[in-house]
Amino acid sequence: MTYNTELLDRTKRHPEKQKNPDRPMGRKPEWIRAKAPVGKTYKETKNLVQGLKLTTVCEEAGCPNIGECWEKKHATFMVMGEICTRACSFCNVATGKPDELDKMEPLRVGVAVEKMGLEHVVITSVDRDDLQDGGARHWVKTIEAIRFKSPGTTVEILPGDFKGDFNAIDAVANAKPDVFNHNLETVPRLYPTIRPGARYFRSLRLLERVKDIDPMMFTKSGLMVGLGETKEEVAQVMDDMRAAKIDFITIGQYLQPTPKHAPVDRFWTPDEFKQLERMAKAKGFLMVSATPLTRSSYHAGDDFARLKAAREAKMATQVAE
Ligand code: SF4
Repeated sequence: MTYNTELLDRTKRHPEKQKNPDRPMGRKPEWIRAKAPVGKTYKETKNLVQGLKLTTVCEEAGCPNIGECWEKKHATFMVMGEICTRACSFCNVATGKPDELDKMEPLRVGVAVEKMGLEHVVITSVDRDDLQDGGARHWVKTIEAIRFKSPGTTVEILPGDFKGDFNAIDAVANAKPDVFNHNLETVPRLYPTIRPGARYFRSLRLLERVKDIDPMMFTKSGLMVGLGETKEEVAQVMDDMRAAKIDFITIGQYLQPTPKHAPVDRFWTPDEFKQLERMAKAKGFLMVSATPLTRSSYHAGDDFARLKAAREAKMATQVAE
């Protein structure tokens, strides 16, 4: 077995995971095939991101879709630094003590969105449990900077849980992003090992709170499968999401970033993803994206247009009834 040596050099990025035994990263099935990052637009996107000293989750998480997404100028910016205060066992973002917030970062994100001419942008962040407001003000400034520099761009945010602080959640929701996305990531039984710093019902309540504040704001949440969950548990999470009025569910296959991360329990087949898609649609989500390579931000721009169209069609049906 040969490993990517860059990915293996994780003692600095993941000090808390070094005590974990090496868990071999088995061969991926043939349906997990991503496009290699080689195109001209891919390089332009990379140069712009580097030139503006921005961070992307595409790179930090080692996303398999980077070749395809960056070739279409779809990059997901990650704000508030490269160091996360949590240590989820699936995540490849570096863990440790973060730097001070960069006050100019919101404006640089706005400039990047303007320069890239994006119709839709997705912004995520590391978790900043060290900040009193969890970074809520930085989020508000980032949304405002994008509105200022590129008023026609729709904004999708993917923040952490702000430890369930309603003041922080309300402030960010009141900045009026077009989509408020927060991932549940896995089923509640696996939280203690996969997402130890988070709480399942706290994350659900965050999404429900956004709908309390603005029932018309789109909410979205994602799950990874392949960590040991059962179909019944996934179905229960879908029900919980619908009870919290979440509009859009994404489901993708978990891929193990390094031998120190949580191992893949199994690869769900494309047919099983189709079954999950049918099940989610039957439960009433406005939009469902369930494929092995689905990620929260994958095809987010096209999906936003479909999400809006789905809501309009649903409202038209309700009026007709
Ligand atoms: S799926 Fe999301 S994180 Fe992955 S490369 Fe595309 S935009 Fe970046």
